Amino acid sequence: MNTLIKDVQLEGKTTNILIQDNVFKTIGEVSNVKIDKTIDAKNKAIIPAFYNLHCHAGMNILRGYCEDLPLFDWLQNIWKREAELKAEDIYNGTRLAILEMIKSGTVFFADMYWHHKEIVRAVNDMGVRCDVGVCYMDRLSQMEKNENDDFIKNFSKENNPLITVSPAPHAIYTCSEELYRHCYELAKENSGFMQTHLAETISEVNDCEKNTRLTPVQYLNSLGVLDDKTIAAHCVHFTEKDAEIFAEKQSVAVHNPCSNMKLASGVFKIGLMKEKNVRMTLGTDGCSSNNNLSMIEEMKFASLLAKVSNQKPDILTAEQVFEMATINGAKAYNINAGKIMEGMLADCILVDLNNERMTPNYNTIYNIVYSADSSSIDTVICNGRVLMENHHVENEEEIIEIAKNYAKK
Ligand SMILES: [Zn+2]
Repeated sequence: MNTLIKDVQLEGKTTNILIQDNVFKTIGEVSNVKIDKTIDAKNKAIIPAFYNLHCHAGMNILRGYCEDLPLFDWLQNIWKREAELKAEDIYNGTRLAILEMIKSGTVFFADMYWHHKEIVRAVNDMGVRCDVGVCYMDRLSQMEKNENDDFIKNFSKENNPLITVSPAPHAIYTCSEELYRHCYELAKENSGFMQTHLAETISEVNDCEKNTRLTPVQYLNSLGVLDDKTIAAHCVHFTEKDAEIFAEKQSVAVHNPCSNMKLASGVFKIGLMKEKNVRMTLGTDGCSSNNNLSMIEEMKFASLLAKVSNQKPDILTAEQVFEMATINGAKAYNINAGKIMEGMLADCILVDLNNERMTPNYNTIYNIVYSADSSSIDTVICNGRVLMENHHVENEEEIIEIAKNYAKK
């Protein structure tokens, strides 16, 4: 399959780009090739797509369900409601989440939730990439834990090469030492990756220090479960030593600014993380603590929050936060994407330069980070496949119609 993106702007210059199957084959003059599909990209700029490193996609069905509470009260409310959700609800919520992500330029998400078969089904249907994080907590029965284990062990890449399945111990306050060790071993025998929430709130840190005399990061390090495939969401309350451990282990910190602000969890220490060279990515978290899954908004909030909390306008530049949202996320999951370059996987966005938020276009990245919204994105391509064109995703009307009924119920 050869797709030609014609007359597109790449870093300010007009060019042609040939996608052969799932890679960027040629950037520049394309000749003597049979073209199967041509995308007229006049007045459009091509940029890498976004990688959302922390999400609970199925929670989209709970968007706006309960608001303005601190984390633990909020979790109690949400867990009650979640317990009533059935497999089909998770499928519908996840499809709505993926629709929203595609519309805002995201082609990959690291998910952490329940009913994993339904998540895989939704990801298959929608054509994006996903690390399906299989959630573990002490409160699961042994039977449920065994089912989780089997699901991870039996998942085969042959089903869909865009999906990995990984254990996701929820957090240190819901998972024992044994459970973390079990998940880590399971990760090493399977995808390699392990997701968790880490150092999200000050009470998590205080409790951990009281019980173990260690910070959450030092505690996980003492269990031997941190490495370059550990994906840790939030990482708000890091000490200098915590950041040094993360840098040494090459573990991946996911910054979730909207969720951290909304749940009043605290401010991610961008200066410290940069100084210690911690691998930093960006994620939206679940929709009920955000309340949307737009990586464009997440970039802007990350950058503004860093500027105001440090009173330093260049502490997190547009280019730096854009890298967190694109190539850093792809690299975290060993996906050879995140840049528009020959030989790399064809994940990209075409931005509409006629869109009012993109005009005038002195610098596409500045506009994307500080001005754009979903309406600025015209086309989304994942692994060479067009998932959205002219701002339309297949079946979007049906997905929205089904989701609407939940609030009525
Ligand atoms: Zn989360």
